[in-house]
Amino acid sequence: MSSEEPELYGAPSAESLYEETVENYRRFLNPPLARVMKLSGSPLESSAQGSIIVDHTGKTYLDFAGGYGVFTVGHRHPRVVAAVKRQLDLIALSGKTMFNPLQGRLARRLAEIAPGDLEISFFSNSGAEAVEGSVKLARAATGRSTIVATHNAFHGKTVGALSASGREAFQTAFRPLLADVVHVAFGDASVLDRALTDAACFIVEPVQGEGGVVVPPEGYLRAARAACDRSGALFIADEVQTGLGRCGALFACNSDGVVPDVMALAKGLSGGVVPIGAYIARPNVWNAAYGKAPLVHTSTFGGSELACAAALAALDVLRDEDLVENARSRGEQLIAGARRIGEAFPDVIADVRGRGLLVGVELRSEGYVGTIVPEMLKDGVTVAWTLNQQRVLRLEPPLIVTEGEVEVALAALERAVRVAFERFGALAEAQPAGGRP
Ligand code: PLP
Repeated sequence: MSSEEPELYGAPSAESLYEETVENYRRFLNPPLARVMKLSGSPLESSAQGSIIVDHTGKTYLDFAGGYGVFTVGHRHPRVVAAVKRQLDLIALSGKTMFNPLQGRLARRLAEIAPGDLEISFFSNSGAEAVEGSVKLARAATGRSTIVATHNAFHGKTVGALSASGREAFQTAFRPLLADVVHVAFGDASVLDRALTDAACFIVEPVQGEGGVVVPPEGYLRAARAACDRSGALFIADEVQTGLGRCGALFACNSDGVVPDVMALAKGLSGGVVPIGAYIARPNVWNAAYGKAPLVHTSTFGGSELACAAALAALDVLRDEDLVENARSRGEQLIAGARRIGEAFPDVIADVRGRGLLVGVELRSEGYVGTIVPEMLKDGVTVAWTLNQQRVLRLEPPLIVTEGEVEVALAALERAVRVAFERFGALAEAQPAGGRP
């Protein structure tokens, strides 16, 4: 098979592989999701490189969904792939009974680049698990139980992370969740002193991603830091989506000059190749929790050699290719272009906002999403909505995206918005912009 031919996994044709996969999803994975994906024209992902995904028919797509933040260095960056292949020939998963040199190096590297004196890392396999570890650490370190989180937040779907998330629709079926979790308005520091009295922690995304790309007012994180200092609650920055350059700074909390007590990472840390998450904590915090109990919080797979090799290579690429700066400048281009489209179609687009290459286009009605996403797909551009706010389209390309690729995506957005407007006219819904779900 030449490298141009699609990988068919033994199926007789690309079309039969598509039918087989849809049927497998329909019967053995998630029947309603299979229906929605089929209706919206979702193809098979067949291969990917850089900012481009190739489907089972050979059609190429610019990836502006970006794995919801996973593909910061793009798909299969050659340096990440080479590091993982090299490691595969040595040892793949950690046996945990011996020292793992790459885990040590990755922890040191994170300590070097993280804000302030964040220094001690724990490695997980996902963002939710990094959040679980963070809130457990806060409870253990402070001896307090209350977790203060924000409405509309998204921290993941394991029970602890879900408890801190702020979307009722994801929570109802699983109640009772963790006890002693309090939610406050995102962006309003005036409520924090009261809420944080005797609290273990305040957990917050520096920019709410799944909540609809909501950027808090200037100074909010600094004020939250000060409120945590007054109450003795730990400040947990959930940078699972915003971290590692996504928002045009290495960490989004850097923009406000804030040093959290604990920071959660995942997504981009994987280099888009092997899943890995982490929390990184101040030494005094970590020691207060686990200084005498090193095995109280562990993970069998967390911090494997393969994952650490991918993460170390991804951090090299981020630095050597100046991707944080690219996220900042391409983000400005993307936001400005999307705002121009918003001005041309004010009945469809209510707001465009974001930071770096985490950009949200808020539509006036969810009714437009079902047209805009597939129309952009037809033009070869993938986008997605945000989990807590389905009428906010996210534009979240790899940080390697070029000026020309941003223009291609904007042209596709403009055409799709025009089609949606011609199809439905004005569909305004009486919901506040960036409001609670
Ligand atoms: N925290 C934030 C801010 C996220 O955006 C996400 C996922 O979107 C998570 C946590 C959960 O990460 P994962 O899906 O890897 O568990």
